[in-house]
Amino acid sequence: MQAIRIHETGGPEKLRQEEIPLPTPGAGEVRIRIEAAGINYIDTYQRAGLYPVTLPHTLGSEAAGVVTAIGAGVEGFRVGDRVASAKVAGAYAAEALVATAQLVRVPDGIETRTAAALLLQGMTAHYLACDTFPLKSGDTALVHAAAGGVGLLLVQIAKLRGARVLGTVGTEEKAKLARAAGADEVCLYTKEDFTAAARRFTSGRGVDVVYDSVGKDTFAGSIDSLRPRGTMVTFGNSSGPVPAFAPLLLSQKGSLFITRPTLGHYTATPEELQARAGELFAWLKAGKLSVRIGATFPLAQAAEAHRALEGRKTTGKVLLVVGEGK
Ligand code: NDP
Repeated sequence: MQAIRIHETGGPEKLRQEEIPLPTPGAGEVRIRIEAAGINYIDTYQRAGLYPVTLPHTLGSEAAGVVTAIGAGVEGFRVGDRVASAKVAGAYAAEALVATAQLVRVPDGIETRTAAALLLQGMTAHYLACDTFPLKSGDTALVHAAAGGVGLLLVQIAKLRGARVLGTVGTEEKAKLARAAGADEVCLYTKEDFTAAARRFTSGRGVDVVYDSVGKDTFAGSIDSLRPRGTMVTFGNSSGPVPAFAPLLLSQKGSLFITRPTLGHYTATPEELQARAGELFAWLKAGKLSVRIGATFPLAQAAEAHRALEGRKTTGKVLLVVGEGK
């Protein structure tokens, strides 16, 4: 089968399309024929070496498709089921293995491709808004990269929970998308100081929470945007990882809280995974949440997809269309 692999870490040019053997599912695993694979920032970190992987490595952790083979001891899934996962072993491929503990069924009425677009970034937005800092009515939240994959979903979920949202974006086009998703105000942080915008947004007090996926470039400004005893959620490295800092900073800036969460710890049990994915699918079906597929690429152009994502050229979800519907 065809797959996109890396043999060494580096830039997008390291991605190679290769023929590799079809994998055989082990105990508790299924194999799926992939219809669409999600492009996520984690794929670029693995490609670049920020998050180490064993080489050679088939990239991609998010996909949706159809079950084609079942391993020993698998219950509850059959060949032909439409499924999705945010923890696929090599999603940039025609087929891939997934442990059933990490597999969700795609409900009737939701396209397979939509499930691939929603799951990883949707469950991230869900845990951030519902668990890491459980937003309640009237809370104020600063959401960076608000027109991105996680960003557009996080803005919508924050609004569903009754929060007031200030989004940051890089361009006017992205500002329109963030507003359409429900952001109360939008700051073009490429032109304007977002900390000043956060102070204005809260009549000088500072926001209750910052959801910061940008990392290195926004960390200091995010800290300065918080109210006393506010919460800094640093959950990504789009501009590079946040450098080391002294905990005393948190005291000086207002007895702040800081957390650096990751999706795996918020989908650690099958029950939690199913509940999170289930609520997202229910919101989608009820028209309370929408997922924007901003761009699609064929498998062979995975490197182009990485360049677009890292070049700040994308909005919403970027998908690799692999199988049917190519
Ligand atoms: P996005 O669609 O948000 O794309 C990244 C966006 O970040 C860009 O479009 C750009 O938006 C903004 N950005 C700001 N500065 C830079 C820069 N120097 N280089 C590149 N982009 C920049 O990506 P995703 O939705 O896939 O992921 C968002 C973040 O969330 C990533 O950092 C990712 O690692 C993290 N993440 C974390 C998870 C977790 O559990 N911890 C799970 C999933 C994702 P603009 O032009 O508007 O500034």
